[in-house]
Amino acid sequence: MPFESLSERFQLAFKKLRGKGKLSEEDVNEALKEMRRALLEADVNFNVTKDFIKKIKEKAVGEEVFSTLNAAQTVIKIVRDELADLLGGTQSRITISSRPPTIIMLVGLQGAGKTTTAAKLAKMLKSQGKNPLLVAGDVYRPAAISQLQVLGEQLDIPVYTEEGSKDPVQISQNSIPFALSHLKDIIIVDTAGRLHVNETLMDELVRIKATVHPHEIMLVVDAMTGQDAVTAASAFDQALGIDGIIMTKLDGDARGGAALSIKAVTGKPIKFIGVSEKLDGLEEFHPDRYASRILDLGDVETIIEKAQAAFDEESMEEMKKTMKSGSFTFDDFLSQLNMVKKMGNMSSLVGLIPGVGKYKKEIDKINMDGKEFKHLEAIIQSMTTKERSSSNPKMLIKDSRKRRIAKGSGTRVQDVNRLIKQFTEMQKMMKMAKKQQGKKRGFMPRL
Ligand code: GDP
Repeated sequence: MPFESLSERFQLAFKKLRGKGKLSEEDVNEALKEMRRALLEADVNFNVTKDFIKKIKEKAVGEEVFSTLNAAQTVIKIVRDELADLLGGTQSRITISSRPPTIIMLVGLQGAGKTTTAAKLAKMLKSQGKNPLLVAGDVYRPAAISQLQVLGEQLDIPVYTEEGSKDPVQISQNSIPFALSHLKDIIIVDTAGRLHVNETLMDELVRIKATVHPHEIMLVVDAMTGQDAVTAASAFDQALGIDGIIMTKLDGDARGGAALSIKAVTGKPIKFIGVSEKLDGLEEFHPDRYASRILDLGDVETIIEKAQAAFDEESMEEMKKTMKSGSFTFDDFLSQLNMVKKMGNMSSLVGLIPGVGKYKKEIDKINMDGKEFKHLEAIIQSMTTKERSSSNPKMLIKDSRKRRIAKGSGTRVQDVNRLIKQFTEMQKMMKMAKKQQGKKRGFMPRL
């Protein structure tokens, strides 16, 4: 996770403050020094760091936190708000034109993740009910065109290309009537990158801009490149004018300096972040939530959103029914596993819960990866209908049954035993939830 060491250092500074009761100006200065060092080590721009610390100090003095009882809480809140501000303040959305097609142009250096991000963005917009068209404007790298075509095919989203053409301006322009005649309301143009910012590249991008008049020019930058990403952003903004930034590879071990400096240096907000290589690895960027996450104050909004997306009304109803009936079967267990799978990786979710950041390493150890989900799924699917619809795990007590299930699912008897244990635990939890429900109406198991 990015910001890990920054996050740890900030928490350490807070811990010292919290342990103090009343705070003196010196205590706060000490904590600010620690934060300053942490920011610089995370590769945050020097001037940005200086300003950040200055603002916190001014606010702390202004709010007269010293010698009050909840001084530590007040300082933490000030830091949180300033950090959110540094990350861009409020969420910035993309412009969707009231007269389709909305044209989004993605620009950036080679390898930043443009082509992948174009597909991710198209997928996200499609899931929001839009009809996107991808345009292959990176004509110098033939692999980029086929890469986009493969991604488009996976997502069932059309890709506009012109075979043999080496003119990205023409291709982008021609994609507009194509989009209109195919009822596409969003055009996402993937443009060519270079290893470094250079005049030929900028000149081409400026010509595309002047011809198609995009509603949104989004710069894709790689978080792992640190301050180089910030420098590239300034150069693109000066030459072309950008509306927003998509910062990719925040799932890697980027120290976070780029994300924390880019808005302050360029004035342009991060609108999306790339958090995995996979096509669903794009998130809208919420500066305030991210600030809370860094400070381990929890990001409850994201958990709720993810849960809402995974638990559609039907599955919620089913879960309620299961709870009421008090009988929890292997089939119910399977549908629960599927819901959790839809919510995404457990450890990334757990990381959003306040105060558990420090246990992240332990949680990673017990985290279920995609392979383990597949195993559990295969085991349940290899049971007979009678076994699956049973709520009594003793039904599987016979070794011959376990061996049959293990064989059918390509797993081992130990794996089947483990699943039975997990099932029994879950069943206990469901029983407890039912009891609670009896006491208090409307109780649902907590996430
Ligand atoms: P382009 O040259 O800018 O079009 O870059 P590509 O889209 O080809 O991406 C370069 C590499 O970065 C590919 O291996 C992508 O899978 C990878 N990549 C892109 N976005 C992300 C991300 O958010 N996280 C991770 N881990 N990898 C990414």
